[in-house]
Amino acid sequence: MSFAWKTVGLMYTRRCPLACGHCVTRSSPGAEGKMDPRDAARYIGEAARVSTQLCFTGGEPLLYPEEIQRLVALASQLGLRVSLVTGCGWAKDEERVEPVLSELAEAGLRQLVISWDPFHEVFLRREAAVRVAQTAANLGLRPIIRSAFRASDSPEARADYYAEFASFAQGHEAAEVLPVGRAASLPVESFDWSSGPPAGFCPSVVLPVVRWDGTVYACCGPSLEAKPGSPLILGNALEEPLDRILARGASDPVLHAIYAIGPRAMGKLIEQGNGLSSQRFSGICQVCLKLTNDPSFVTKIRERLADPEIRLVLAAHLLARRAGKPADVRPAARTLREEGAIGAGLAGCGKGCG
Ligand code: SF4
Ligand code: SF4
Repeated sequence: MSFAWKTVGLMYTRRCPLACGHCVTRSSPGAEGKMDPRDAARYIGEAARVSTQLCFTGGEPLLYPEEIQRLVALASQLGLRVSLVTGCGWAKDEERVEPVLSELAEAGLRQLVISWDPFHEVFLRREAAVRVAQTAANLGLRPIIRSAFRASDSPEARADYYAEFASFAQGHEAAEVLPVGRAASLPVESFDWSSGPPAGFCPSVVLPVVRWDGTVYACCGPSLEAKPGSPLILGNALEEPLDRILARGASDPVLHAIYAIGPRAMGKLIEQGNGLSSQRFSGICQVCLKLTNDPSFVTKIRERLADPEIRLVLAAHLLARRAGKPADVRPAARTLREEGAIGAGLAGCGKGCG
């Protein structure tokens, strides 16, 4: 059993001109950590063997426009569909916007994802992000606006963050902010809490990312909080070819379970003694991290997933997820099915490639 990686992300740098309050990478102007462009070029060649899409993210990848432009050209020549996530902090100088984006478009960039929400607006004027998006649209880069909102943000306030982009952007991806990274320090009322683990399977575990130090994570964002030994840490691409790391990860039943049935259903496999039902959670990622960061839970989950009947049911769910419809499972195995298909839903630049 295996699944296909949808998009491979390269977290090119941790540095960023902004320091948003929800940033999962805790990026800032003084943050350290950057990929060597020669390593990035190798990762791109290896990624092309296991995926059809590549995404540059960070921190702010456009702090290094010439390096990124060369790497976009390489990825494009290898047949990868290339996207880039930006927080627009590099675009404070409006004269730079057109030249930087037109060189990227010429190099083969296909899509620009712009992070824009109340957290970004603390550091950058809205017109800078609108200018970047409008220029990207003019160059055929099909801009998407991605926002993270607090539980207290009203529907009107949320709509307002997209209003100025709506006439030319391709769409608005909005999600709830999650208490990971710097966001863990936000007031508790910023988050939607549920009593016990929330339902939902994860669409993001097919979006692996290589961090600036070579560490490969199963998803682009919350898995940065994974502890050593977690199944969400797939390996280190400085020590082993990325395609080999990803081929191994693609056949891990724990990742299949996160993708096909979701963290809560995975927890139900080891319900006795996991204590999840008496805790509160904000989003499925907290449940996922709680389970995968505990070696004893992971061992028990792996034992349960080795059961032939559960393997069969999981395979059916995996096939159904690929086909985009619910699996037709036997009654005895229905406890594995989740009620809702809720995305992991982390937005904001530096995470959420795709
Ligand atoms: S969320 Fe994006 S723009 Fe904000 S600090 Fe993090 S990387 Fe920079
Ligand atoms: S549930 Fe969240 S932490 Fe777990 S793999 Fe999905 S996005 Fe990552």
